[in-house]
Amino acid sequence: MRWLVHAVVLAAAPGAHADAPLHRADPVIVAPALGRADVPVARTLYLDRCVGGCTVHGTMVDDAMTNSSSIPETGTYQLGAFAYGDAEWAAIVACVTEVYSPYAITITETEPSASTYYNKALVAGLPADVKLDTSTLGIALLAGDCHPLGNSLAFVFANVHPHDATFVTNVCWTVTQESAHLYGLDHEFVFTDGVSACADPMTYRGDCGGEKFFRPHEAFCGRVAQEHCRCGEAQSSHRLLVERFGSATPTTAPPEVTITQPAGPGSLAAGASIVAHASAQRGVDHVALLLNGYPWVTAPGVAFGGSGQAGADYTLALPAAVPDGVIDLAVAAYDDLGAVTTTPALTMMKGEPCASAATCAAHQSCSDGRCAWATPSAALDDACDYVQQCASGLCIRGKCSQACDIDDDTTCPEHFACDGVGSNTDGVCSRTSAEAAGCCDAGRAGGSASGLLALLVLARIRRRRS
Ligand SMILES: [Zn+2]
Repeated sequence: MRWLVHAVVLAAAPGAHADAPLHRADPVIVAPALGRADVPVARTLYLDRCVGGCTVHGTMVDDAMTNSSSIPETGTYQLGAFAYGDAEWAAIVACVTEVYSPYAITITETEPSASTYYNKALVAGLPADVKLDTSTLGIALLAGDCHPLGNSLAFVFANVHPHDATFVTNVCWTVTQESAHLYGLDHEFVFTDGVSACADPMTYRGDCGGEKFFRPHEAFCGRVAQEHCRCGEAQSSHRLLVERFGSATPTTAPPEVTITQPAGPGSLAAGASIVAHASAQRGVDHVALLLNGYPWVTAPGVAFGGSGQAGADYTLALPAAVPDGVIDLAVAAYDDLGAVTTTPALTMMKGEPCASAATCAAHQSCSDGRCAWATPSAALDDACDYVQQCASGLCIRGKCSQACDIDDDTTCPEHFACDGVGSNTDGVCSRTSAEAAGCCDAGRAGGSASGLLALLVLARIRRRRS
């Protein structure tokens, strides 16, 4: 059975308005379903800047084309015009477009044709215009079973947002949250690794600022406390939107990274610290120290703060196991969708150039004075003897694997499931047991009865994040 709830964004005004009254928690109104289980996904989101004469009908039937909504009480209302200028409107549209850019959805400020199936965000007015509580920033429908709605209105009461330096990002946050409710996304409170979900637009939390983006990390839900999500234990807003729309190319700027230490090519002492300054529009997910092409050391991105994630210096210590020789040293910075920028390489000298593989690390060869592993060529599920053979950087139980989300098998390719390994609560993709046993591929080794038994024992030992 499907239910609809009214969902509303609530946000304390950040920055200078932190002492402003908190917006109230909205009532969750449970209403009968609309009977639209089989409708297609509305791939157009129309941002309607009301310029006056914006009539809203409170009705039982939602219809974006006629500004009809089941959210206000029955009646006819006039929504006040967007109170600010063209530049701020354009910046809001640009922000919403950018936040949705990784998904195959069209964001438009031009009214779609009558044949287009779309959702609409009314970006204007005050909540009192439709007789809602004066602290309401926005409100939209969310299907109780999280199926996407179409031909529905999301209200974004632009004129109640504090008109300060954060106005554009704050309204953008409300537009993206309310419209995403229409597509079945719940509020997020904390990522499953314990980090605040404050950098995702589905949050109510004000403990970090800046532009918010739909994140690929699984999150527990809730507005003011951690709860299970309406449709599952956890959700990833990015994953759900990819499922709804398919992927598109993000328009956010790729990371920027420069090496600040060492200052240039030269000698590299054992135990040296390499420092790189990195930043990214979506935030730096992690940085990696590349030595002759191999990521010897990684460091996670710094925490998000009042203005989002600030650019930061990342210090990466040269591991003791790095053999002497010529080293092409570079640092790569990644954002959370995998966009990567790599610095130009600095040619460094640690000790003497290698003369043979005898002084190199295991499985490395020596060429031009450099100890290096061959470029990894083994793909997922190929046999491996050591990790550097695998393009994914993971060799588990003699096979190349890849990291995944343990709560979500769809983060692995088809015929693979995400399992915990040993004491590691992070997931790795393992071929599902029937496939691994060779039932579906006569050419595969390991199809014997004993192999099947061993694989069945190994497979599907799942661990849950707490
Ligand atoms: Zn909301």
